[in-house]
Amino acid sequence: MNKNLHDAWDREHLWHPYTSTIDPLPTYMVDRAEGVEIVLADGTRLIDGMSSWWSVAHGYNHPRLNKAATDQIARMSHVMFGGLTHAPAIELGKRLLEWAPAEMHNVFFADSGSVAVEVAMKMAVQAAVSRYGDHRRSNFATIRRGYHGDTWNAMSVCDPVTGMHGAFGPALPLRYFLPSPRSRFGGKWDPADAEELRMLFERRSDELAALILEPIVQGAGGMWFYHPEYLREARRLCDEYGVYLIFDEIATGFWRTGRRFALEHAGVVPDIMTVGKALTGGYLTLSAVLTTRDVADTISRGEAGVMMHGPTFMANPLACAIACESLKIFEEQDMPSLVAHIEEVMRRELAPAAEMPQVADVRVLGAIGVIQTREPVDVGVFQRLCVERGVWIRPFGCNVYIMPQYIITDEQLERLCRGMLDTLRALWQ
Ligand code: PMP
Repeated sequence: MNKNLHDAWDREHLWHPYTSTIDPLPTYMVDRAEGVEIVLADGTRLIDGMSSWWSVAHGYNHPRLNKAATDQIARMSHVMFGGLTHAPAIELGKRLLEWAPAEMHNVFFADSGSVAVEVAMKMAVQAAVSRYGDHRRSNFATIRRGYHGDTWNAMSVCDPVTGMHGAFGPALPLRYFLPSPRSRFGGKWDPADAEELRMLFERRSDELAALILEPIVQGAGGMWFYHPEYLREARRLCDEYGVYLIFDEIATGFWRTGRRFALEHAGVVPDIMTVGKALTGGYLTLSAVLTTRDVADTISRGEAGVMMHGPTFMANPLACAIACESLKIFEEQDMPSLVAHIEEVMRRELAPAAEMPQVADVRVLGAIGVIQTREPVDVGVFQRLCVERGVWIRPFGCNVYIMPQYIITDEQLERLCRGMLDTLRALWQ
């Protein structure tokens, strides 16, 4: 392989995600990306299995998204959102509210997934302070194996073991962690799964602003698919004990689990929900927090009288214009059948992995396929082997997973799945 694929200056000076400066993992030089392919500097073409971390839904270098971007740049790339508004934000807000459960009424645009989670948590605290008239209900509950982002509060509700609690220790606020539901998606519901949630609420609900959950699929914290009944139970308990319910749909939104939003599997409506990632088709960072009229007005009736957040790049017009086009592309396709087909192909193609002695579990839901290994996978070695096989997959811990772009053809998806299995065989031989 061409050595120019690994740049010495980059290695010396640029921080990549979760990377050591002393012993960084190799990074591969990308020249361009088209459709489902990432093209490396030496011309090697890789079928992308990651959708650039769940974001690139319609493929790279999409003509319609490119056009939406250049048209918007010709008008204005950015303008502040304080005191000003613009058509791309209004159109995007309308579309999101049409797509979300009918109870959602207000939209807050934020810069990234993590910031959306911060905003959602701030909303819950502000609403709880206003609703109860004091600051007692300011803490959060969540389930283990979750992932909600890398900023301070988002980190505090990530899994305490696989997340960043070890590195930051007492610098992080202490949250209430409940066991992740053991009942699998598609399996039998065990009511014992919600017992600790009930017990926590009985003892501590007067300290809690909200319960925050990734509905159905726990992503970067464990790639676990759990039973929808947990969400229904969570809704019942949140109502009973006056705790707000936040759904983080940043990874699961936009048909990744086979439904527009994962909450549809349970028929449950949260008080606050976050979306991001595939919102712009992976073109630019943009997220949104949606909430009910009740939460929004409760905040506005509170002491502060306003929602206390207002980032510089709020509702960036360029990102909003691209997101509008991205949502149009979704709307024009029969997404449920398209994702059901991807699911079917992945189920068939990944099934042989269940026979490998090093594999603990194989699971597929919507356009997410996971091979859970018994021992953690060496990412550096895995990536070298998968690049040699023409596919791009980045495992973490014991999870080797793919969430392909929705435009992938059967032939490309088969190559991706076979590349994934071949890489594992080569790793373990
Ligand atoms: N929430 C969830 C469920 C996520 O998967 C992620 C990103 N992996 C985030 C929040 C954070 O998003 P971002 O990386 O855009 O800050």
